[in-house]
Amino acid sequence: MDELRRQLIAGARRLDAAGLNRGTAGNLSVRAVAHGAAGFLITPTGMESAALVAEDLVFLHLDGRPEGCRRPSSEWRFHCDLYATRADAGAIVHAHSPFATSLACLRQDIPPFHYMIARFGGDSLRCAAYATFGTQALSDAVQAALTDRRGCLLANHGMLVVGRDLAQALALAVELEALCEQYWRACQLGRPVLLDAAEMARVSERFAGYGQPD
Ligand code: 13P
Ligand code: ZN
Repeated sequence: MDELRRQLIAGARRLDAAGLNRGTAGNLSVRAVAHGAAGFLITPTGMESAALVAEDLVFLHLDGRPEGCRRPSSEWRFHCDLYATRADAGAIVHAHSPFATSLACLRQDIPPFHYMIARFGGDSLRCAAYATFGTQALSDAVQAALTDRRGCLLANHGMLVVGRDLAQALALAVELEALCEQYWRACQLGRPVLLDAAEMARVSERFAGYGQPD
């Protein structure tokens, strides 16, 4: 658990260093077990990552009960609902990264302009419907946008990714922001040519055998 706390704080600082989060924006969590109970560790609300120490992280049970001296992230609901409903969720990163957030203000899905969109589980990155931060309504919107997906935009807010572990969630967050930057730039030049469903299906098949074996 101590090692997990160290990794979560390091992850929060990496998001800042990569320019994906600034100030107290964004939050992240990782699935964990405390005293035999299933739950997750999450960053505290309203604290900058540079100042965090291990005790600042909050353990939440899957029914939302907190353990710790700090108040958990205001977005604990969507973290909690995702761990409760998705066995593939080992870690979650939420960021207000510049390009993803700018595109999220248009409230549009990102279409398959680049094959890497398939990394997120399909042929689009959906934009979740707008709801006030920290609400159950936002969690419900996130659940819908993440159906068969590992990432989405949050309307007028930011983005979110689900990874099998912290390393993968951080990598997906960087990839999602990179795709949003590329889409933004391509749209400055003209109308991007989109890949069709058959090609995206081929890409998904290739991703199944991509990378180093576990
Ligand atoms: P917290 O500081 O409560 O995690 O809130 C940041 C945020 O991004 C809310 O959506
Ligand atoms: Zn946010």
